[in-house]
Amino acid sequence: MPAAHVALPRRLGAPAPGWTTSADVVVVGSGIAGLTCALRLRERVDRVLLVTKTVLSAGSTAWAQGGIAAALDPGDTPQEHLDDTLVAGVGLCDPEAVRILVTEGPERVRELVALGAEFDRDAEGEIQLTREGGHHRDRIAHAGGDATGAEISRALIAALDRVVDDPGIEVVEHALVVDLLTTDAGAVCGVTLHVIGEGQVDGVGAAYGRAVVLATGGLGQIYTSTTNPPVATGDGMAAALRAGARVTDLEFVQFHPTVLFLGEGSTGQQPLISEAVRGEGAFLVDGSGTRIMQGRHELADLAPRDVVARAILDVMRDQRVDHVWLDARHLGTSFLERRFPSIVARCRELGFDPATELLPVAPAQHYASGGVATDHDGRSSVEGLYACGECSCTGVHGANRLASNSLLEGLVFAHRIADDVTARLAAGELPLGVPASDAGDAAVLDASRRLEVQRAMTRGCGPVRSAASTAEALEALARLAALPPTEAEPGPLTWETTNLLHLGQALSLVAHRREETRGGHVRSDFPERDDARWLTHLTTTTRSADGSLVVTERPVEVRP
Ligand SMILES: Cc1cc2nc3c(=O)[nH]c(=O)nc-3n(C[C@H](O)[C@H](O)[C@H](O)COP(=O)(O)OP(=O)(O)OC[C@H]3O[C@@H](n4cnc5c(N)ncnc54)[C@H](O)[C@@H]3O)c2cc1C
Repeated sequence: MPAAHVALPRRLGAPAPGWTTSADVVVVGSGIAGLTCALRLRERVDRVLLVTKTVLSAGSTAWAQGGIAAALDPGDTPQEHLDDTLVAGVGLCDPEAVRILVTEGPERVRELVALGAEFDRDAEGEIQLTREGGHHRDRIAHAGGDATGAEISRALIAALDRVVDDPGIEVVEHALVVDLLTTDAGAVCGVTLHVIGEGQVDGVGAAYGRAVVLATGGLGQIYTSTTNPPVATGDGMAAALRAGARVTDLEFVQFHPTVLFLGEGSTGQQPLISEAVRGEGAFLVDGSGTRIMQGRHELADLAPRDVVARAILDVMRDQRVDHVWLDARHLGTSFLERRFPSIVARCRELGFDPATELLPVAPAQHYASGGVATDHDGRSSVEGLYACGECSCTGVHGANRLASNSLLEGLVFAHRIADDVTARLAAGELPLGVPASDAGDAAVLDASRRLEVQRAMTRGCGPVRSAASTAEALEALARLAALPPTEAEPGPLTWETTNLLHLGQALSLVAHRREETRGGHVRSDFPERDDARWLTHLTTTTRSADGSLVVTERPVEVRP
């Protein structure tokens, strides 16, 4: 049985702030979401503070390979993009959020081009578009072949560099946000953060703001193996949860079907073989060379990610193997090197040549479809707190994200947040608040326990899970949460590890609760999708009084 009662502390154990600063808006994170939001806000409000955990380019954005989806082709329409997105989301998308994404998306991508992002172009000079899993049209714009995220990140950071002397924006790198500060009434009024700096701004401080935008990315490091970079420790989602915000759809984790398999003991960030490789014609085979996806789905190797991941997991289970193979040899050396330079180079570094060899691949954690619940302007359930990009749950992904929709989500909703904050500040809303006199209880889990958290989550809440496995995860995490606090030294690694623990507890709770198979994972004890019972969102919140994690259900609105 799962631990009946899970409670989170209000904050992470950390030294009291030794310095303070303030801004109209504090933006946390420098991926596509944070940078886009900060750049747009800078033109509209007096003072923006952008803080980021390590360097500006760290984060999933710079790793994105395949591209950004938008109905840019004259033969394509937002409606078709919407239809594909709803199918991938298996009944749990918010159709209005998706409509916003697909209708505002093309304009946002054009603005990114105007800002300086250089996408690959065809012979006529038009942006070249390719196809990825779940899309019925060529609508993925890419850059540098398979280095789309790196180019977007470069262009946004270059735009920031151009305004760096502007007193309206301050950028602080190596600034890890520890927790959200809230007023007695529960509104957000800033963050506590740890800065590795010099002089006054060093160590733990407080940054006050009339609004805080969390753009802290995903939670991939919660699993032993992920495509996400080391900074993806779910800090923003965990801080929001501790501050009482609603966090929704957390159980829907996407496991990318084709991650290079480097051996069972390999942990941390693993190399991704983009879906675009299958988009160009590569296909999956088992050890005997039999194609895996043929006959399983009308789109075969380009079926939605969950379908492909499940097919691979079936083969792995039935044939008792730990990976399958991706065959891209027929695409030829020159095409592969031109179209996928980064992937080919990375594979060769690791001893595999996609032009001449089959690549060993297996599913690994890739994307968090859930996150801090927001409305269509990015507002969370806590006054003054916004969330954007992968750390948010806007409703566009439902139970499973459609390939290349996440960069677009970051762009579109960052833009909307900047406009909403601007309008509210102009209207005199969002007054600068004072932190509550009682900062609440605190706890930390020592960094040395990180692998234990990751193993508990991987065994319990991976792509195949059950009541028993999720209950075991809950128990293992409860044991870690009960360790005496004196064991842990506060510091960045310890704070990240505690965030993984807190999110792991919340994720296990909802993964245990959802007794059906939907989206990115399989419940082995409930192998069917159950629309009669489970067409509903599970939301986790902490009750402010005692920090208890409470799960509530919100059935999907059935539209006439
Ligand atoms: C290998 C890979 C390939 C992908 N390919 C694609 C693709 O082709 N197309 C697509 O649409 N999506 C793709 N994705 C997903 C996509 O890249 C991400 O969902 C998206 O970039 C998230 O953007 P973001 O701005 O929300 O977060 P990120 O880009 O992850 O940025 C998060 C930022 O927050 C900072 N941060 C985190 N915690 C803190 C803290 N406590 N304090 C301060 N700062 C903090 C980080 O340092 C970072 O700057 C891919 C992801 C990966 C990992």
